[in-house]
Amino acid sequence: MKPAAFDYHVPETAEAAVNLLAELGEEAKFIAGGQSLVPMLALRLAVFEHLIDLRAVTGLRGIEVRGDAVWIGASTTHAQVGRSEEVRRRIPLLARATPLIGHFQIRNRGTIGGAIAHADAAGEYPAVALALDADLEALSPRGRRVIAATDFFTGMWSTALAADELLTGIVFPGWPGRSGFAIEEFARRSGDFALAGAVIAVRLDADSRIDRCAIVVFGLGPTPVRATATEAELLGCAVSEVDAEEVGRSATADLESIPADLHGSAEYRRRVGSVMTTRAWLRAVREARND
Ligand SMILES: Cc1cc2nc3c(=O)[nH]c(=O)nc-3n(C[C@H](O)[C@H](O)[C@H](O)COP(=O)(O)OP(=O)(O)OC[C@H]3O[C@@H](n4cnc5c(N)ncnc54)[C@H](O)[C@@H]3O)c2cc1C
Repeated sequence: MKPAAFDYHVPETAEAAVNLLAELGEEAKFIAGGQSLVPMLALRLAVFEHLIDLRAVTGLRGIEVRGDAVWIGASTTHAQVGRSEEVRRRIPLLARATPLIGHFQIRNRGTIGGAIAHADAAGEYPAVALALDADLEALSPRGRRVIAATDFFTGMWSTALAADELLTGIVFPGWPGRSGFAIEEFARRSGDFALAGAVIAVRLDADSRIDRCAIVVFGLGPTPVRATATEAELLGCAVSEVDAEEVGRSATADLESIPADLHGSAEYRRRVGSVMTTRAWLRAVREARND
């Protein structure tokens, strides 16, 4: 099938883009890399009379170091994120997540802002943003605001962005110190969305006790989920005494609304999520300890 006919707009500034969206209302949609939106249009799962292309909008692309943090413009492609030396050195979790997204053709076109605004529950970037406490920058005709990642993912393919807001950039804070990071996921075929996955960031103090950690599981509910109770239990523990399998079990034990379909039952996905969490924990801890 082909998409229904639409008018195509190519604004050159972020302000012009949001004003156009406000003017055209519900019949209009931003398009970035088109890697999620175009299949939906082609299958007529979504129909819009107007598409507002973000590719010519200035100021939405690029990677900038800001103190300990890294700012990434929303229209920066997955491939650009994956090639960035600054991302690899300062936000290693983001660099490690990138090759797991789709295939290289998708990474060449797809954008980080599109992936986060689209908010697929099995997407890697939403999980990383949640784990690292990223800030999401939004612009609308009413002005600019910053949304914390913990408040951003509100449900299946839905976010805290208002209908007239553009995501302009994402700020990923660095985790200085004895830190380790890992992402693990299981997909039936390379390039598919994960059936279940886990992201871990962990930091150790001088006595090898856990002084900061983030555990996010994804593909196991309508949004990525931060295992806050498990994180709280781990804080202050000597890392050598932590049972990695128990971390996996605990992070996935209370999940509700795990999807079930022909690819796997909810219980199967929970088990896979638990194993992915255990593996990611072991890798992140190994890196933090520099073993
Ligand atoms: C075969 C295939 C496999 C894939 N596998 C994976 C995978 O394993 N993991 C994964 O995470 N993703 C995967 N994807 C999706 C891919 O990462 C997309 O690139 C991404 O989800 C959307 O980014 P985009 O730039 O293409 O956005 P688009 O498709 O252009 O837009 C997606 C949505 O975001 C909105 N949007 C885009 N940019 C903005 C913005 N700046 N502000 C506000 N709203 C905006 C659009 O209006 C639209 O609703 C896959 C896609 C395909 C086709």
